[in-house]
Amino acid sequence: MKKFRADLHIHTILSPCADLEMSPDKIVERAIEQGVDILAITDHNSTRQCAMVKKHAEGTGLMVINGCEVNSREEIHAICLFEDDYTRDKFQRFLDQYLPEIPNRPEYHGHQVLLNRKNQITQYFPHYLGSPLQIDLESIEQYTHQLNGLFIPAHIDRPINSLYSQLGYLPSDLHVDGLQITRFADEQTIRKQYDIHSDTSLITASDAHYPEDIGAACTSFYLFEPTFQEIRWALNQKNGRSVKIES
Ligand SMILES: [Zn+2]
Ligand SMILES: [Zn+2]
Repeated sequence: MKKFRADLHIHTILSPCADLEMSPDKIVERAIEQGVDILAITDHNSTRQCAMVKKHAEGTGLMVINGCEVNSREEIHAICLFEDDYTRDKFQRFLDQYLPEIPNRPEYHGHQVLLNRKNQITQYFPHYLGSPLQIDLESIEQYTHQLNGLFIPAHIDRPINSLYSQLGYLPSDLHVDGLQITRFADEQTIRKQYDIHSDTSLITASDAHYPEDIGAACTSFYLFEPTFQEIRWALNQKNGRSVKIES
């Protein structure tokens, strides 16, 4: 079993709130510098920049996971991760169906930029990606799992946009593959505070919006090899795989 450092919550230049320095090439470069082995690209309500980050990571040994940070109707943020491009694209169509067509106002929210391989802007995404989707959290969880994805409510200790800030509890019929705490939180304190059983894995992640934040908070995944299936097993504490928040 080997240890892999994972940062599973990273925004790119496509997220309105992320720094314009968060280009796909820069993210890959910085992650490698920081000794990250596995990263997930999780822009708000979009997977559209994942492919470009994966392209830049080709041949580097860095594993890039297709992902997204959804904002549900209840304004709860959750990380959804997908194994391949087929399921990622299916999930993108789902997002397109439920994202309200509210125009982005760059002067107010920030730019939402898609880049090509040469870092040239190919599109300013028109609809504001920070809006709540017009669908509830449980339906998003169910569709994510239908696509064999992983579902991890984000920054659960944050006073806004988190499972506990919006609902106050973890519903028993919501199937989570783990819960993400912020880099400022302590695992044992959070477990006590929210009464989270040890069979639910906690992870941390940088939630990077700036290059210097990438890898600032990582979770160790104990795997035989870095594959999506092994990451799933580690989160679900199966077959000897496990996760541990780096101290
Ligand atoms: Zn968030
Ligand atoms: Zn985020």
